[in-house]
Amino acid sequence: MIPSPTPAWMDSELTLLADNATRFFERECVPHEARWRAQKHGDRKIWNQAGAAGLLCVSIPEQYGGGGGHFGHEVVITQAHTRSLTGGFSNSVHSGIVAHYILRYGTEAQKQRWLPKMASGEMVAAIAMTEPGAGTDLQAVRTRATRDGDHYVINGAKTFITNGWHADLVCVVARTGQEAGGKGLSLIMVETQGQQGYRRGRLLEKVGQHSIDTAELFFDDMRVPCHQLLGTEEGQGFRQLMEQLPRERLIIAVGGAATLQRAIDETLNYVKQRQIFGQPLMAMQNTRFKLAECQTLATIAKSFVDDCIGRALRDELDLATAAMAKSWVTEAVGKVVDECVQLHGGYGYMTEYPIARMYADARVGRIYGGSNEVMKELIARAMEK
Ligand SMILES: Cc1cc2nc3c(=O)[nH]c(=O)nc-3n(C[C@H](O)[C@H](O)[C@H](O)COP(=O)(O)OP(=O)(O)OC[C@H]3O[C@@H](n4cnc5c(N)ncnc54)[C@H](O)[C@@H]3O)c2cc1C
Repeated sequence: MIPSPTPAWMDSELTLLADNATRFFERECVPHEARWRAQKHGDRKIWNQAGAAGLLCVSIPEQYGGGGGHFGHEVVITQAHTRSLTGGFSNSVHSGIVAHYILRYGTEAQKQRWLPKMASGEMVAAIAMTEPGAGTDLQAVRTRATRDGDHYVINGAKTFITNGWHADLVCVVARTGQEAGGKGLSLIMVETQGQQGYRRGRLLEKVGQHSIDTAELFFDDMRVPCHQLLGTEEGQGFRQLMEQLPRERLIIAVGGAATLQRAIDETLNYVKQRQIFGQPLMAMQNTRFKLAECQTLATIAKSFVDDCIGRALRDELDLATAAMAKSWVTEAVGKVVDECVQLHGGYGYMTEYPIARMYADARVGRIYGGSNEVMKELIARAMEK
């Protein structure tokens, strides 16, 4: 057993939360995961159950219905969720991302209106940036919000939206100004229940992460009150997105580091019991060397991610360091999970084996949250300064 040092930011309260979260995912998600994968989304009620268990919006102040915790609380829930090998709902998008956009940029009335409902699971949140013609290049967003009296009339289409199927509240990136590029972008919160002109498209068929809903969204002359602009000033959307992205990327790295250890533990168990040429597969030098290499990568990843979490807690996490964490860890996950599949032989290719599902689920880590090529560009830009 390789000792894993407890990070400085971990305390007894977080340990308790981690245990509670682990039990929640084992009890409420593991038994349903296969069915959720088949239907391509979790049951809507899992959101209310997670809210009742105190797992939503943990790092939002209590005055807005949240748990009153900090980023460390989000971290231990993300780790527990990842280790459970279940999806069902993207708490990272809901609590880790959208809730913090509202907390950081929302007016007092907006915080009071949305955060308590998000914390209880009454409202499910999504963020809709990506469009068929604008992914990495967010400045090419074409969804337009045109003012008409005290409403915006929004037209456009979004794709690949996590939680998009169940979303009651969508943070939509839309063009409010005539300026080209990022300057004319704003974030507008859309309450989807009974909203005329709002339409969900297909639940998308993904390579992995089958139990998380990922959907297309369409807006056709959708009238949204102007007071649902996030904040009070138009044209701030691009800046708001750029400010929040390091947090989003670190959450991906946190999940990646947890995936690394889960994949190795799974494989270690397998190679110890798999007999080959009259001995356990673990006895072969290739197996030992490959697992040693994988464990080294996992240990480095954990150490770096723990350091980044400490920086985030001190409000010192910069764009380039978050980009390093996101890109390095997700590349390591790609290598390690691939090796782990290989060590499982043919069973590693069978979806009834967790490692096969992990292989498919992990691939998107190098693409979303800003692709790893973009992460390298951000790191290089910081080096030039
Ligand atoms: C499962 C899943 C969930 C997602 N969830 C959400 C969500 O909830 N909300 C949301 O808004 N979006 C979401 N996305 C979208 C995701 O963020 C985008 O897919 C991602 O930003 C890449 O955009 P794109 O797919 O349009 O690829 P493109 O932008 O077309 O990129 C294609 C390729 O070009 C490369 N490239 C781009 N720019 C550069 C450059 N400057 N230098 C070198 N290479 C470059 C990229 O690295 C990539 O390899 C999700 C995507 C997936 C797959």
